[in-house]
Amino acid sequence: MKATLIYGAGDVRVETVPDPRLHEPTDAIVRVLRSCICGSDLWPYGAKPAQDHGDRIGHEFLGVVEELGAEVTGLKPGDVVVAPFVWADNTCDFCREGLQTSCRHGGQWGSTGVDGGQGEAVRVPQAAGTLVKLPVGEDSALLPSLLSLSDVFPTGHHCAVTAGVGPRTTVTVIGDGAVGLSAVLAAQRLGAERIILMGRHTDRTELGREFGATDIVAERGEEGVERVRELTGGDGTHTVLECVGLEPAIETAFGVVRDGGTVSRVGAPQYPAVPAGFGVFMRNVTLTGGVAPARAYIEELLPDILEGRIEPGKVFDRTVGLDDVPDGYRAMADRDALKVLIRP
Ligand SMILES: [Zn+2]
Repeated sequence: MKATLIYGAGDVRVETVPDPRLHEPTDAIVRVLRSCICGSDLWPYGAKPAQDHGDRIGHEFLGVVEELGAEVTGLKPGDVVVAPFVWADNTCDFCREGLQTSCRHGGQWGSTGVDGGQGEAVRVPQAAGTLVKLPVGEDSALLPSLLSLSDVFPTGHHCAVTAGVGPRTTVTVIGDGAVGLSAVLAAQRLGAERIILMGRHTDRTELGREFGATDIVAERGEEGVERVRELTGGDGTHTVLECVGLEPAIETAFGVVRDGGTVSRVGAPQYPAVPAGFGVFMRNVTLTGGVAPARAYIEELLPDILEGRIEPGKVFDRTVGLDDVPDGYRAMADRDALKVLIRP
């Protein structure tokens, strides 16, 4: 089969790799219907040292069950399923606490011996715990939104949930990438009173408005902080959803949060230390967030997609075939595309 490999910064190739086979009785083989490129794939695409062998990449996919190991329960060949961006048994103590990203028997797509999602098929470890059956056909128009359940939408949702967003909450979302826009949608879904989106790409902030943003702040840094404070009577917002991962974004987050409020970060941090010194301490600001246990949220978010109340798949603004995945990476790295859908 064909799959995507990364050889180093700027060097993504689609090559023929061995077809996946069942290794463990808890495995399944899934034929991929849709996959996509994640903002976090752009970190290795921007900085991975060159190497002479490729590493499999991609951690978001949705597909059809082709084969099942003898111990996999609850699934049958032909089922359309979505996989969260880590695999997990969904039964251990961490999983029962809703922290499937810390599963005692879990792991990451594309790690040694494990397929990546950007390919024609995937061997899925811990299939019964990992895969969620979707009540749709292979040609459903809902596939883009259902694919968003693998990572980007639950990540935005996790950011809003850990921040404590609710009906009386004011929210600032930092970042107009796919995760930031998903966080806007999640905050709106949780009933936030006011959602200020900080972003400067108008085509993206327009989608942010459609997803529920009430105000857009295009300014950045100190100016951006001042603008949010102006909009909120000088106080800032109860919650701040930091969806970028760079140091200026976390600094802005502490600048726009109201005293006693909460900053949640889901942008994979590209900085070694959080600038939360005495000032942040004196203002009783809480810092939370982290990697999203997408698996914990899929059943809760699924009905709103199936019943048409939300359409998180609108973050996909370009579709490529598997052979054109390298172009998809370039388009996302150049900010030409917001998020690229892959149709193997
Ligand atoms: Zn587990």
